[in-house]
Amino acid sequence: MDSAGSQYPGGFVAIEGERISALGPAAEAPPAQGWELIDCSGCIVMPGLINCHTHLPMVYFRGLADDLPLHEWLTGHIFPAEGAHLSPQFCHEATLLAAAECILGGTTCVNDMYLFADSVASALEIAGLRGLVGEGVIGFPTPSAPTWQDGLKLSQELLRKWQGHPLITPTFCAHAPYTCGVELLQSLYTAAQQHGAPFHIHLHETHAEPGMVQWREGDETPTAALKRIGILGAELIGAHGVWLSERDISLLAHGGCSIAHCPCSNLKLASGIAPVPQLLAAGVPVGLGTDGAASNNNLSMFEELHTAALLPKGAHRDPAGLSATAMPARTAVELATSRAARALKRSDIGQLAPGKLADLIVLDASAAHLAPRYHHEGAVYSHLAYSAQAGDVRDSIVNGRVLMRGRRLLSLDPAALRAQAQAWVDRSYPPAG
Ligand SMILES: [Zn+2]
Repeated sequence: MDSAGSQYPGGFVAIEGERISALGPAAEAPPAQGWELIDCSGCIVMPGLINCHTHLPMVYFRGLADDLPLHEWLTGHIFPAEGAHLSPQFCHEATLLAAAECILGGTTCVNDMYLFADSVASALEIAGLRGLVGEGVIGFPTPSAPTWQDGLKLSQELLRKWQGHPLITPTFCAHAPYTCGVELLQSLYTAAQQHGAPFHIHLHETHAEPGMVQWREGDETPTAALKRIGILGAELIGAHGVWLSERDISLLAHGGCSIAHCPCSNLKLASGIAPVPQLLAAGVPVGLGTDGAASNNNLSMFEELHTAALLPKGAHRDPAGLSATAMPARTAVELATSRAARALKRSDIGQLAPGKLADLIVLDASAAHLAPRYHHEGAVYSHLAYSAQAGDVRDSIVNGRVLMRGRRLLSLDPAALRAQAQAWVDRSYPPAG
């Protein structure tokens, strides 16, 4: 899976330092001497999966409150839990557990928005995972920032500390148009533009969202409102985009904005189904995201990929609108790899090609659910989109560093992280009686 979509049965990938130096058919492989070899016989070697929208520390809230619509879930359960428990230590420890889950499931890069983002970044650095990381700024007091101006200051400190880091890319994050005012949004967006940093925001996640944007004019959509205040440019990564209108889609395409599609979270919170085929047809870069583990409830990009591949095919009440080609398997795989990289404004990841950063995974294809394998070009995409599971990922390499070998994590101790998470739950939410 290089930039031309070529496949090399029995081929090789060579990594030098943090980058891929060569790849191709086995006959062109360099002599084995002097290289550390990873035998991938019977395996699929592919670009690592890129999670375009998540809140990693929320793994500690997995299973806290379920089967609720977004706003009741958020204001009745998640915001109060965050108010009671968040700290730099909480975010650091929870991110380590989330990173273990990501690596075990084949994710090599995440785009995270949460509070105490510096703790998220330092945990990702320990894990060895690549991350775009931003402090979530919102128009009311949070555990990390009493005012949004303090949140902006934290974002700028994050940028100063992590800019140029080989794994961490600082971003600017505004929570959503309905929780952020105009001055906040414009200040944060201007800062992102000044530093050439991505601007990450939840966008039109629910049907009710437009009415909750207090600063909108008339019956403007959130996207049109953002356009009016001047922040619908190439830096913008909008999460969800479930209820985008045709005009919204063309505004996003015109602005060079991208969308992080989170199908599992959108289904679980009963938010709806995003118009992904329409976004792709308009040329809007789209990548997949899991959202936080409290609304998913896992960080498996393979599960997200399966859902994204299936959903547009059945998303019509009108039988004439149903189409088995609404999301081809290969496009779905690209939404988690090359298209995801584009959605995150990254040209250096998402593909296996000389010069790209060495972020790749090895899938053990020996499981019963991956047999047999046909020899036509689309067969491997079909397996990846419809059959592969997170547990099939055998090895993971990020930035040229091996993070998992034979399903054993080399940078983290998942048993210790699980025990730490359980101890936190037992302390914070002790069993009744
Ligand atoms: Zn989210």
